[in-house]
Amino acid sequence: MQNVIVTGNSRGLGLAISRRVAADPRFRLIGLSRSLSPDYQALIDAAPERVLHLPFDAADTAAIPGLVKGLTETHGPVWGLVNNAAIGMDGVLATMHATDIQKALKVNLESPIVLAKYVSRSMLSARQGRIVNISSIIASTGFHALSVYAATKAGLEGFTRSLSRELGKRGITVNAVAPGYMETGMTAGIDEHNLAMIRRRAPLGLPTPEQAAGAVMYLLGEDAARTTGHVITVDGGSTA
Ligand code: NAP
Repeated sequence: MQNVIVTGNSRGLGLAISRRVAADPRFRLIGLSRSLSPDYQALIDAAPERVLHLPFDAADTAAIPGLVKGLTETHGPVWGLVNNAAIGMDGVLATMHATDIQKALKVNLESPIVLAKYVSRSMLSARQGRIVNISSIIASTGFHALSVYAATKAGLEGFTRSLSRELGKRGITVNAVAPGYMETGMTAGIDEHNLAMIRRRAPLGLPTPEQAAGAVMYLLGEDAARTTGHVITVDGGSTA
């Protein structure tokens, strides 16, 4: 069985990815998040031998080496890492608290980098593996009051490209998926005017978390064995 870690598995896109991974008998799913949601618990109940949850706070990057060591000792090398956990952090930069800026950088950027660092060690030994970083179209389009969030996602895309060069020779792919606006907890507070504008920009309609999860599954699967250093955009055509 191939171990696949999904961070931020409890709801939204992470839950949609978890459902797809859990449905594939090739994979053992290891969900990492702060809370164990009833939806994810249902996945565990349906396949307890293949679906696990470990408590994880992405803001606590110092705990990552021990967490990865423990799970690889128990379950073996990691095949796939999906860096999905993130916080929205909207607000005008001039009035944003320094602690909020630091938290967004920590959870959205530093934590995925540190996780990739420790998880890639077992991938390097196995000479195989898949790292998928969840970005956003905001990394390249920009959006009012999302400058810090955009910086974290653009950083993640730069990280993806360079790491793909570093790990490619050892059979490990590193890619990103950039969804457009999806209806999840992260976007629940958006005002109607902005939502209408975002909808108008997407000729195909806005993507669902399930559709973005499909791109992640492609990158985890055999067909993507020669795809690395890329960003797959799933945005209903908004940025075409
Ligand atoms: P969401 O509904 O708010 O879910 C966020 C997930 O991340 C939750 O499972 C949460 O779990 C986890 N998380 C948050 N802070 C965490 C922390 N400190 N430690 C560990 N886990 C943490 O968000 P979403 O919309 O599904 O977003 C998923 C990904 O898609 C993110 O990378 C986001 O940037 C990206 N994205 C979203 C949209 C959108 O429109 N929604 C668009 C483009 C990209 P716990 O609270 O249980 O820890």
